[in-house]
Amino acid sequence: MRILVTGGAGFIGSHYVRTMLDGGYRDFEDAHVTVLDQLTYAGRRENIPGSHPRLTFVRGNILDRKLLREVLDGQDAVVHFAAESHVDRSITSGAEFVRTNVEGTQAVLEACLTGGVERVVHVSTDEVYGTIEKGAWTERSPLLPNSPYSASKAGSDLMALAYFRTHGLNVSVTRCCNNYGPYQHPEKFIPLAVTNLLEGRPVPVYGDGLQVREWLHVADHCRAVHQVLAEGRAGEAYNIGAGTAESNLALARRLAELCGAEPDMIRHVTDRKGHDRRYALDQTRFERELGREPDVPFGEGLAETVAWYQDNPQWWKPVKNGGDRP
Ligand code: NAD
Repeated sequence: MRILVTGGAGFIGSHYVRTMLDGGYRDFEDAHVTVLDQLTYAGRRENIPGSHPRLTFVRGNILDRKLLREVLDGQDAVVHFAAESHVDRSITSGAEFVRTNVEGTQAVLEACLTGGVERVVHVSTDEVYGTIEKGAWTERSPLLPNSPYSASKAGSDLMALAYFRTHGLNVSVTRCCNNYGPYQHPEKFIPLAVTNLLEGRPVPVYGDGLQVREWLHVADHCRAVHQVLAEGRAGEAYNIGAGTAESNLALARRLAELCGAEPDMIRHVTDRKGHDRRYALDQTRFERELGREPDVPFGEGLAETVAWYQDNPQWWKPVKNGGDRP
């Protein structure tokens, strides 16, 4: 078995790759993993092993169609994580999101089709649904994205489903809620809050902080992506939720407590433009078709994540205090 992982040096992709190389996914213990990653500001080569007998690392852009054809030669499966992933950046510079997320995904799908890849998973997000006041989205809910990030992900998500309907490509889509865990770039909310608190600086919370999100540990997301790869139906999308809902303000308070900081370290700042109020996923399809593996309890996962940032300042300090700080 040979598997190509795009974006495998980023937060979620690198967890998937490390777990697979550790033999953590059934029937893929011997799989050869090729990572294709451009190493943008978000990707770090050191997030995955420097050398491993079952790993090939290729630095390159998913927009490079010639390179894609080369790296896809002989691959049995593709998991496509590569994307521009930060909503705030998409508000100030949306073009890169269209190029990488929409055009790049189309390039990956086309190369999979012509290269005869047997199985593809496109990693999308719950943000494609937009915001929901009450209830929960099913996979049949309309896609009503609000940010340039989520709009570009909706474009790529629909492109993947179109490659199934038009060409019969064996591709499934996953739509997961917010992830947290080690190796997440400190521009994202949880690592931003934790690393600020560890440096004795305040935590910025957008608006009233009452935006509600579900949070899933990256290990659970990757396990679910792998279940979809192994058993998901072609041409279908799968919601991957956490079953927990928390406001950003409540989460910031939890993080302050875990870091031993006072609640007055939380500072309300001007709300993000077009900020979605609430996300909620109905996971009936996933549970019915694929079953759920054991979850990392939110409190435990959060405490472990805080401890990881405490123990690994050499990982986040150069990024946070370096040239690409948002
Ligand atoms: P990330 O920003 O940490 O990693 C993205 C990776 O893609 C980086 O390694 C980067 O170098 C690489 N990349 C970017 N542009 C590229 C290009 N043109 N060619 C090749 N490589 C490129 O993102 P993440 O948080 O790990 O998210 C991974 C995927 O999961 C994304 O598709 C994202 O939309 C989706 N997702 C993320 C979350 C979340 O909470 N983080 C939730 C649901 C879905």
